[in-house]
Amino acid sequence: MTGNHQVLHGLGVSSGIAAAKAVAVHAAPGFDANEPPTTDWEAASARVRQAMANVSAQLTERAQQASETVRPILEASAKLANDRGLAKSVDAKLKQGTGVTRAVHDATQGYADMLAGLGGYMAERVTDLYDIRDRTISELLGLPAPGVPELTELSVLVARDLAPAETATLSPELCAAILTEEGGPTSHTAILAAQLGIPAIVQVPGVVAVAEGNLVAVDGGVGEVVINPTDDEVAELKERAVRRAKALAGSSGEGATYDGHKVALLANIGTADDAAKAARMDLEGCGLFRTEFLFLDRSDAPSLEEQIATYTKVFESFGDRRIVVRTLDAGADKPLAFANLGAEENPALGRRGLRLCQRREDLLDTQLEALAQAYKATGADVRVMAPMIATASEARWFAEKVKAVGLPKAGAMVEIASTAILAGRVMREVDFVSIGTNDLSQYTMAADRMQGEFAELLSPWQPALLTLIKMTCEGGRATGKPVGVCGEAGGDPLLALVLVGLGVSSLSMAPNKVNAVRTALRLHDLATCQQMAAYAVDADDPENARAAVLELTSPGLKDLL
Ligand code: PEP
Ligand code: MG
Repeated sequence: MTGNHQVLHGLGVSSGIAAAKAVAVHAAPGFDANEPPTTDWEAASARVRQAMANVSAQLTERAQQASETVRPILEASAKLANDRGLAKSVDAKLKQGTGVTRAVHDATQGYADMLAGLGGYMAERVTDLYDIRDRTISELLGLPAPGVPELTELSVLVARDLAPAETATLSPELCAAILTEEGGPTSHTAILAAQLGIPAIVQVPGVVAVAEGNLVAVDGGVGEVVINPTDDEVAELKERAVRRAKALAGSSGEGATYDGHKVALLANIGTADDAAKAARMDLEGCGLFRTEFLFLDRSDAPSLEEQIATYTKVFESFGDRRIVVRTLDAGADKPLAFANLGAEENPALGRRGLRLCQRREDLLDTQLEALAQAYKATGADVRVMAPMIATASEARWFAEKVKAVGLPKAGAMVEIASTAILAGRVMREVDFVSIGTNDLSQYTMAADRMQGEFAELLSPWQPALLTLIKMTCEGGRATGKPVGVCGEAGGDPLLALVLVGLGVSSLSMAPNKVNAVRTALRLHDLATCQQMAAYAVDADDPENARAAVLELTSPGLKDLL
C-alpha cells in the first residue's frame, strides 16, 4: 500500500475493529462567491439545465438500487430536479446577470419559500429541494456529489460530520466504520452508528484530509485510527479484538452484580429490524424504542394502520420481555419533514420532543392509539414514556393520555435538570422514569451535544450530571418507582457500575454493548458500586471521577474498556 502512515485519535463512540479503504463524504459546496456574472443567459441556462438533468439521472439510478422505502423518495427527488418551474426561476435570475451557482442557490430558495408557504405535502418537499440545489451546484462546479456516496465495496466512511438521516441509510455490510472530524459523542449520528453495529470515532482531527483509497484501520473502542497501517499494526488490532472477545466470553443471562443485585440489561432500538436483531440477543428487553427513527426519511406522516403494523412487529419480536416505547422525539437534530413547526433561533431549546407533540397533538394521539392497538393485539409488556418532560404537570398530562387509550404504564424521561431536581414530584405522576443522560448533560452543562468540541463538558462523568442522577434515584426511592438509564452512559461498562451504585435498576444501550456491561457488573458487588458512586459524585472533575472509580475495579475490567 502506498501513502503516508499516520496515527490519529478521536473519541470512540461505537466499538469494533475494522480495516478498509477510505471513502469521503463530501460537504455541500454552497454557491461560488467569486464567479463571474452571467452575460449570455441562454448559454448559462443550457448549462444549468444540463446539470439538473444529470442530477435527475443520478437520483433515478440510485432509486433503482434503493430499498422499497427509500425508492419513492429518490424517484420524487429525481422528478423535482427536472421541474420546469424551478428551471424557469433559475432563468429569471440568469437574465438579471446573476452567476450560475448563485442563480441556482437563490432560485431554489425562492422556490423553497413558496413550497413552505403552501404547507402540507408541498412544504415537506423543501428538504428534497435543498438536496437538489446542493447536487446541482456541485455538478456545475465539477465537484463530487455531496452526501454519502453509493458504496460498492466495504469502506471506511470519512466525513466532516454526518446527519442522522444519512447515517440511518448505512449498513455494516458495506460501511466498515465511520470517522468524523466533528460530531459529538452523544449526537444521534454516533448513537445510530452504535445501533447499527458500525464502529465509529468522532472528533478525529485532520481525518477529512485522508485521501480516498487509503487503507484505514479503526479501533472504535479506544478511538484509534491508523492510516496505511503496517502488517504488525493490523495484527495487533486483531489481537486486541481477540482479547476483548475472550473477556466477554461466558457473559450470559440476567444482569446482576457479583452478589446478585439485579439490574435489567436492555436494548436501545430504532426500527422493527433493530427489534428483531436485538430480540435474538441475550438481553432482557428493550429500554428505549426511539420511534422517531422510523420516520427520519419520511416526507409524510405515517398512518395509524402503518404504525399499528410496525409496533405489532416490534412487540412480537420481544415476546414477553419488556418494551419501553418513547413517543415521537422530533425536532432539533432529528427534524421530521411532516412535523415541521417552522424555524427557531435555538431548536434544541425550542419545540422539540413533548413540546412538539403538544402543538401537534394529532401526531401523539395517532401514535398512542397505534401503540394501544398493538398492545391489545399482542398482550406485550409495553411501557410508554415521553421525551423532554420538564414539569410534573407535563408528566400528568402525558400519563393521562397514555392511560386514556388503555396502555398500562406511563413514564417520563429525565432529560432536563428541572425534572431531576423535582424527580419525586414528577414520579408521583408516572409509573417509572428513564434518564436520558445525553440530553440531561447538554441541558445541565448548557453545551450543545452536536458540538463535539464540548466533549469534556458533556462527559457523563461530570459530577453535576452524576449528582442529578443521584437526585433522580432519591426521587425513585421516595416514591417506590423504578429509575432506568437509557442514554449512552448506560453502555459504558465502568460508568454502569456507578449508575447501579446510585440506585438505577435498569440500563438500556446499543445491543452490542450489553455483554461488556453484564461482565462488568458480575465482577463487582453492590457495596463496591455504591462506594464508586460516592467517589464519582464527590470528585471535582470527570477525569478524577473516572480515575477514582477505576481504582476500585477488579482487574478483569480493564480488558473490557
Ligand atoms: C438521551 O437524551 O439520553 C436519550 C436517550 O434520548 P436521545 O439520545 O434520543 O435524545
Ligand atoms: Mg434525549
